[in-house]
Amino acid sequence: MPANSAFPIFDGHNDALLSLHLPNRGGGRSFFVRDERGHLDLPRAREGGFAGGLFAIFVPDRRMRDGPSDDDVLLTDTGYEVRAALRISTSYAQRMAIAMAARLFRLEAESAGALKVARTAGEVGECLRQGVLAAVLHFEGAEAIDRDLDALHVFYAAGLRSLGIVWSRPNAFGHGVPFKYPHSPDTGPGLTGAGRELVRACNRHGILLDLSHLNERGFWDVARLSDAPLVASHSAAHALCPMTRNLTDKQLDAIGRSDGIVGVVFEVTAVRADSHNDVDTPLDDIVRHIDYIAQRIGIDHVGFGSDFDGATMPRALGDAAGLPRLLDALRRHGYDAAALRKLTHENWLRVLRRTWRA
Ligand SMILES: [Zn+2]
Repeated sequence: MPANSAFPIFDGHNDALLSLHLPNRGGGRSFFVRDERGHLDLPRAREGGFAGGLFAIFVPDRRMRDGPSDDDVLLTDTGYEVRAALRISTSYAQRMAIAMAARLFRLEAESAGALKVARTAGEVGECLRQGVLAAVLHFEGAEAIDRDLDALHVFYAAGLRSLGIVWSRPNAFGHGVPFKYPHSPDTGPGLTGAGRELVRACNRHGILLDLSHLNERGFWDVARLSDAPLVASHSAAHALCPMTRNLTDKQLDAIGRSDGIVGVVFEVTAVRADSHNDVDTPLDDIVRHIDYIAQRIGIDHVGFGSDFDGATMPRALGDAAGLPRLLDALRRHGYDAAALRKLTHENWLRVLRRTWRA
């Protein structure tokens, strides 16, 4: 049994599928064998009480897939300027997305009931009660969605329940924030016309819209258009770490008003005040963001959004098996059992239920 089985953790973001898919990231590891590489596999999930989460499908550009070549991407004041060779075509993105979705469905089939691709909040809750790992199919960036939204219908039918309109790069629907510190998230224009159509279509399907990686104008476009709770699956507070990926107080307030949630990311560059990529980052730096957001918009609107397998974790946490140490740090800061239940899963479940309407 996991060490904290009273507090099964539902987590807003991991890149395990990408890590398993790309030889230069996961090194051919198996999700079912405990490994020291990466942050998340089934044995470590069970050790740490990681009970489920959004499993991201992220389409890497050629540079990320094959390793960097010369300066493929230029940072500009308004975002990434992507060299033509790195533009991601819809057909390439769809091939990648299908391959990675197939990987998730194969994991489910091979897991002998230990992992389930969850499509309703009822299924997620049941998985948490039964100790079955609940994987929600999520796209981090909509590059695999065509402008006619045919692929949205097909992927929804396959199980897609969550979509980030952009990663930190522009696409047909909107503009992601480049990674900059210190800098405002107001880095460029809002959603395109196609992006606004995508928001409406996601609302109709009940697909969760993830605002992490979206720039500020895009954020406000979604806030204005969407009828669902606002969700940032893996972000932190800009007031404590002023990097582009983090949420300003006004953004946090809007998430609170919408009955939404911030999954606080564990990535060291997003939680440290100095944004240094330093593994010797205390767990208290994560706790400070949880404290800040809970005090500003209420404990009902905070959860976890680790970014396991996608970012540098504090050494004190290590990987998914280290989650009980984060819960211990929260207890030392005065979080009682009721608060921990909200942070670990109750808040996420409420938002999923409201968004998916099932
Ligand atoms: Zn991300």
